[in-house]
Amino acid sequence: MPSYEPILTKNMLTPGYTGSLVDYERAGGYQALRKVLGKIAPDDVTAMVIKSGLRGRGGAGFPTGVKWGFLPKDYTGPRYLCCNADESEPGTFKDRQLIERDPHQMLEGMAITCYAIGAETAYIYIRGEFVLGAKILEKALAEARAAGYIGRNILGTGINIEMWLHRGAGAYICGEETALLESLEGKRGLPRVKPPFPATHGLYNKPTVVNNVETLANLPYIVNRGPEWFASIGSPPKSTGTRIFCVSGHVKRPGNYEVPMGITCRELIFEHAGGMRSDKPLKAIIPGGASAAFFTDQHLDVKLDFESVAQAGSMLGSGGVTIMEEGTSMVWAALRLMEFFYHESCGKCTPCREGTSWLVQTMRRIWTRRGRLEDLETLTDLCQNIAGRTVCAFGDAAIAPITSTLKHWRHEYEELIRTAEAAGSAELVMPATRH
Ligand code: SF4
Repeated sequence: MPSYEPILTKNMLTPGYTGSLVDYERAGGYQALRKVLGKIAPDDVTAMVIKSGLRGRGGAGFPTGVKWGFLPKDYTGPRYLCCNADESEPGTFKDRQLIERDPHQMLEGMAITCYAIGAETAYIYIRGEFVLGAKILEKALAEARAAGYIGRNILGTGINIEMWLHRGAGAYICGEETALLESLEGKRGLPRVKPPFPATHGLYNKPTVVNNVETLANLPYIVNRGPEWFASIGSPPKSTGTRIFCVSGHVKRPGNYEVPMGITCRELIFEHAGGMRSDKPLKAIIPGGASAAFFTDQHLDVKLDFESVAQAGSMLGSGGVTIMEEGTSMVWAALRLMEFFYHESCGKCTPCREGTSWLVQTMRRIWTRRGRLEDLETLTDLCQNIAGRTVCAFGDAAIAPITSTLKHWRHEYEELIRTAEAAGSAELVMPATRH
């Protein structure tokens, strides 16, 4: 198996490493913050991050430094940083590990970001179910505050950066940045219509940056080892650095694997995750969380970087890679994902609220051998009426399991329908119940 130098998981792989402040400092922690505070101009820190090529690890993959640069330069009021620790994409569990095993690298990255964008207040919005992670972060925040890394007059520089932890209530949509901001303000977590974007009208209508845990955790290393070093890893120039892929499903060794961007699906699955768990061959791959379109065994040599995965018709998304073996019903797999999206639709816009309901009704009808051939046209029509017509990206994400399984495994849908027709069990309507 090829060995790569881990960046974000290096400390936690060291025997005896606990993630405490003492351990983190011993491993070189908070040196990057010392290096930038008052010594490198904030704009130069942003330029360094742009040069590194770092892109958001939460799902959208937007260039991090460019995002920071959208904040208005001449605005003198408060600005905010929000760390998105809501990790709710099915099949994704890397941020949780970073928080639980090495929380200070994320906090240091947050302090560097605050300095670069001129924010004195940062919030960590953590998923409600991450009880252990929240406890660990509270402790880490107290340690960092006591050591003078956050709070007022950090390290005697006159710079103030305060950080607060906020626990969400466990809604998938609160991982969408504007829904996260609404929730943080104490309202229902509903996505906002954009524009305006958070860079100018974010938290409390003030300029705001929202960055993901893994994104922020990379920053101390970019400062310490230089943007050129980071930009040389992975698939330069557009997919630099490492990526923590969360491998789940029918493999021998499911888990988190930090590898350079651009390794192939085949390498990740067969060399890192141990290959298929049984003798059955691989049938399907979800390359980037539940919102990503399915790949087949024909995609094993696609490189796992932003461009290659997009060119192959899916997205790198959150880094959640789910593997399915031969024998898995793709109609069943798509239905399970569709039920999740139906449950998690916030209901703000009609195509998504009603469309996900109708999709689930139709899918359940097919799966329970009561489908009709027209149902396939209904599914396609519903997906077309959701795509690009919703307030947030959830609508497009929700239809991906259906459109991609219809594309690659349409015959499985047709077989179920033929069974229903042969048994005379095809039905007109099957009511769906909201969970
Ligand atoms: Fe809510 Fe779905 Fe509309 Fe997004 S697309 S705002 S989740 S109803």
